[in-house]
Amino acid sequence: MLSKFGQRGIQIRILMLLASVQVFSLMALANCPGSLPANYPRFRWQQVDWNYSGAEADTGVTNAMNDWNNATGQQYYVIGHTPGFTNEVVISDNADLTDVNGNPALGLTTHTPIGPPWICYLHVDTIFGFCYGSSMMMQPTIQINPTLITQTVNDYMAYGMTRDPVVEKTIAHEMGHVFHLENDDTAINCSVPSIMNTQGGPYQCPTLQNSFNGPQNCDVQQFLTDMQNWATFDWYMGTGCNQNVNCQ
Ligand SMILES: [Zn+2]
Repeated sequence: MLSKFGQRGIQIRILMLLASVQVFSLMALANCPGSLPANYPRFRWQQVDWNYSGAEADTGVTNAMNDWNNATGQQYYVIGHTPGFTNEVVISDNADLTDVNGNPALGLTTHTPIGPPWICYLHVDTIFGFCYGSSMMMQPTIQINPTLITQTVNDYMAYGMTRDPVVEKTIAHEMGHVFHLENDDTAINCSVPSIMNTQGGPYQCPTLQNSFNGPQNCDVQQFLTDMQNWATFDWYMGTGCNQNVNCQ
């Protein structure tokens, strides 16, 4: 089946795929992604909007966001695309994208802490009148690599791969990083699939001809576990807010 480029060819190519920023390194459950520390920056609002300025069709990005919305039931975040709204997730192209080791990378996520008002953690915001329950806020940026997208499409063309699904897999993986998930660098195990797998799972599970594009069960379980301690804000009348100190 793999005679065109051989098993080793796939392994090497896959190692370049889906690489991203690894700020922290934690032990991961076998074949499921681990997660970043609970005090990692998070979104201010439940409504999260994205903007993509690159040359790919929006289809792959839209599908990736819908994959996350559908997988989580929008229980913690609703990811949308509303022109005119503040864009929390800023997505662009970078044909020279490399990972931390200098190797070409399909996607890269960077979390940028923003503030104020994140300094208002547990203090009342005098402008909006509510109390932030988060110590840090963020604006993530995602870059995707059109050169490697082309390369990946070509590599998997024999299996029906097209451009939009590669964009979708890449964005869905990077959104996993936005939501704290780490890479799963273990060997492919299609019985425990993860969008965070860096060894080719999203391209080879369950089969090369029928691969998955978005978060899988173990990704969602890790997301739900992390989100329990990842609240955005509480209203002023909420308990736990230090009402003796105001911020503006
Ligand atoms: Zn990654």
